[in-house]
Amino acid sequence: MNRESPVKCRCGRRAVYFRKYEGTSLCRECFIRSIESRVKRTVRKHNMVRKGDVVALAMSGGKDSTNAAYLIHKVFGKWPDVKLLAITIDEGVRPYRTENIRRARAFAKKLGIPHHVFSFREEFGKTTDQIAKRIKFFGSKPGQPIQEVCTYCGVGRRYLLNKKARELGATRICLGHNLDDEVQAAMLNYIRGDLARAGRMEAVTAWSTQKRRGRLFIPRIKPLRVIPERESALYAYLRGFDILEGHCPHAGGIRFEARGFINRLELNHPGIKFNILETFDKLNPCIKRVAEKQYAQKASGGRILMCRKCGEPSSRELCKACELWR
Ligand code: SF4
Ligand code: ZN
Repeated sequence: MNRESPVKCRCGRRAVYFRKYEGTSLCRECFIRSIESRVKRTVRKHNMVRKGDVVALAMSGGKDSTNAAYLIHKVFGKWPDVKLLAITIDEGVRPYRTENIRRARAFAKKLGIPHHVFSFREEFGKTTDQIAKRIKFFGSKPGQPIQEVCTYCGVGRRYLLNKKARELGATRICLGHNLDDEVQAAMLNYIRGDLARAGRMEAVTAWSTQKRRGRLFIPRIKPLRVIPERESALYAYLRGFDILEGHCPHAGGIRFEARGFINRLELNHPGIKFNILETFDKLNPCIKRVAEKQYAQKASGGRILMCRKCGEPSSRELCKACELWR
């Protein structure tokens, strides 16, 4: 953005953004419109929200989840047969998360959506900050591969979000994952050979052909999955949302290395992030089939079990959250 920029948008107004992968300059209004119509197209194309749905908007207070909540509310807020509610998970990262929770609460209030906060401390008896300290001083559990703080945090967040959304009667969980998040996840699943997770990387997570799974694991929707991160940031800024530009102190590890690599690629080859995601989307049906076969070969025979410790659905006797957190 350049305040003195003489560059004009196609509509004649002053441009505020140059979209390199399209070769177009856009003014504030055209930029906002382009983001909103792209999100609406994504939501419609994948039938993300259906009549009768209860959508739990996962709100971290950051730019992406705020944008996703705003846009879903903008499209479905007046539908009489779609209900919206907001959930924030407090992982216990101080002071970063405390500020974000306050902002998420204020934003949900502004939209007129009921807001619920659930914390790791209440659920697991400890916080991500405490886990980070332990990993720093003692490493991972003896005999286990080195774990990153984000692995604990991510597992705990997904677990709690699914559990609480289900208890609140949600039929969809709306996540703020943007294009960059999706591409990083796709690359990491590929590097780790995690086909089960790669197979669940759709616009609407269809967990399996088993109906029971769909009731236990609430399908997740990602309306921003084709919005690049910097455009999501600019959208939030131009819309005037109250967003905290902070970084989690525990952020790091392989995901951030992958992020740097992908961003360098994008710099020299504008639009490559879209290509990567499109390729993974095309491969998804094949990955799913292989992952289903692998599931079926497991001890559970591909059935969903109930974790013996917490009673939540899991493909193993002890779910990942209980293994790491309890
Ligand atoms: Fe949790 Fe990692 Fe995100 Fe921090 S960066 S909130 S530790 S997942
Ligand atoms: Zn469990």
